[in-house]
Amino acid sequence: MNNCLRAIELMERISGCTTGSCSPFYRTEPVGVQGHEWYINAVISLSTHLSAHRLIVQLQAIEKVMGRKRERKWAPRPIDLDILIFGQEILKNKDLMVPHPLMHLRRFVLVPMVDLAPDLVHPVLGKRMIDLLTALPEEGQTVIPVGET
Ligand code: ADP
Ligand code: MG
Repeated sequence: MNNCLRAIELMERISGCTTGSCSPFYRTEPVGVQGHEWYINAVISLSTHLSAHRLIVQLQAIEKVMGRKRERKWAPRPIDLDILIFGQEILKNKDLMVPHPLMHLRRFVLVPMVDLAPDLVHPVLGKRMIDLLTALPEEGQTVIPVGET
């Protein structure tokens, strides 16, 4: 959780970028992997005149200063900063897919996303965040607000 707070501080310092609301923090069950600790997940809104590409470069720089190495996929890491939605933009580059291609399948994304923007419409799927969340089964994807554990 301290890592998330630190990452938010660092995002506040990205030039050309202003941080907006942040969701509550959640403890989330690892999805797609087994046998390691639960994650902390949250969603934050940013306003920026940077392009999505310039923003991801800045976010990756923060991951790096926070000690993230390129390990195997989904390994535990100090921080993971993803762009989930960037306005209504749709980007399909290998190194930058927006909306994030798995976001609509992950409760650990949609639960905090719905806290911030329940009526936001997914630019590809044309559905509101709240409706995407309601469609997802909870099994194997437990998400618990920090403080309730
Ligand atoms: P994950 O976020 O799925 O756990 P990584 O953080 O290791 O995986 O990201 C792997 C690659 O995904 C990064 O090198 C990045 O270029 C790419 N990528 C593609 N789309 C996005 C996005 N929307 N946000 C963040 N990274 C993305
Ligand atoms: Mg990532």
